[in-house]
Amino acid sequence: MSALTISGVEKAYGKAKVIHGVSVDIASGEFVILVGPSGCGKSTLLRMIAGLEDISAGEIALEGKVINDVAPKSRDIAMVFQNYALYPHMTVRENMAFAQTLKKTDKSEIDAKIMRAATILGLQDLLERYPRQLSGGERQRVAMGRAIVRDPKVFLFDEPLSNLDAKLRVQMRTEIKALHQRLGTTIVYVTHDQVEAMTMADKIVVMNGGIIEQVGAPLDLYDRPANLFVAQFIGSPAMNVLVGKSEPEGFVATDGIMLPLPPHAGANLAAAAYGIRPGHLRISDQGLPAMVEAVEPTGSETLVVAKAAKTRLGALLRERVSVVAGQTIFLSPDLEKVHLFDSEGQSIGR
Ligand code: ADP
Ligand code: MG
Repeated sequence: MSALTISGVEKAYGKAKVIHGVSVDIASGEFVILVGPSGCGKSTLLRMIAGLEDISAGEIALEGKVINDVAPKSRDIAMVFQNYALYPHMTVRENMAFAQTLKKTDKSEIDAKIMRAATILGLQDLLERYPRQLSGGERQRVAMGRAIVRDPKVFLFDEPLSNLDAKLRVQMRTEIKALHQRLGTTIVYVTHDQVEAMTMADKIVVMNGGIIEQVGAPLDLYDRPANLFVAQFIGSPAMNVLVGKSEPEGFVATDGIMLPLPPHAGANLAAAAYGIRPGHLRISDQGLPAMVEAVEPTGSETLVVAKAAKTRLGALLRERVSVVAGQTIFLSPDLEKVHLFDSEGQSIGR
């Protein structure tokens, strides 16, 4: 069943239109991540789902019922914000009990709900503390606990990890994913971080400039990006992209370098851009000559950045390499993994 259906939703602030007709269907229990560059409309869309912003056009339905005009507190949707928004003068327990929807609930039931949420999140020993006595990660957990006690149909998260340091962020990703597995509640989660999206989502919605570029499972987007935007946004380090044109003998980039065309290009010579992920470029005995500019080992793999004519290419190698800056190497693409795009940036042949 659909938990949430977003149909032709638009948003304008005065004359400025920021969401241009967005439609997504979110299944019950699904973990959906809205990802895209800063300013593309992610928070606006999430706030419209929560009821914190009016919808300029289109419809949002929760379990089949249109909620455009339903007040936020009556939507059965709980939102967790980036800055946690905890009340500083209230304990963890009081913060968690404060939800509007609990107002008419009796005390023993509230206590039971708080205990359940606290147990799920490992907050049992922190219930009598104040927010200032908690670490960033603990505050984030309280903010989630406050959403859990409401027992909503849908959780909304707006960049909940962006205030945490890198290590804690990775840890919290795992926690939120585990939380989703335990609760099974539908989650719509916003981030600008494609790695966060890739590692956590069942389904990713890639947004850009107020439209949806592509919707799909993480590895679908990685393997079969529909267009250049998604190809370059998803995956780290980013896909190498060369602009140029296909000739019968190969793809010729604007700076004159030539790369072999993949079998799936067939006789189609419409390609205007050639994409190859760094992990799909190898150093070999022959191929495209390139001068090494930098070698960046991380321990498990090494990124070699090299320049062929005017084109800078990244090659990500799993084996240890002995190349050094200034050296000439030969790069060859794994042809099966090459992506071609037409002059509109749409993917060809995949
Ligand atoms: P994101 O969350 O993807 O970074 P937002 O949804 O916050 O982006 O913003 C989308 C666009 O809408 C931006 O161009 C932003 O400047 C604009 N915007 C957001 N809120 C308002 C507002 N209250 N009034 C006018 N413009 C706004
Ligand atoms: Mg935002």
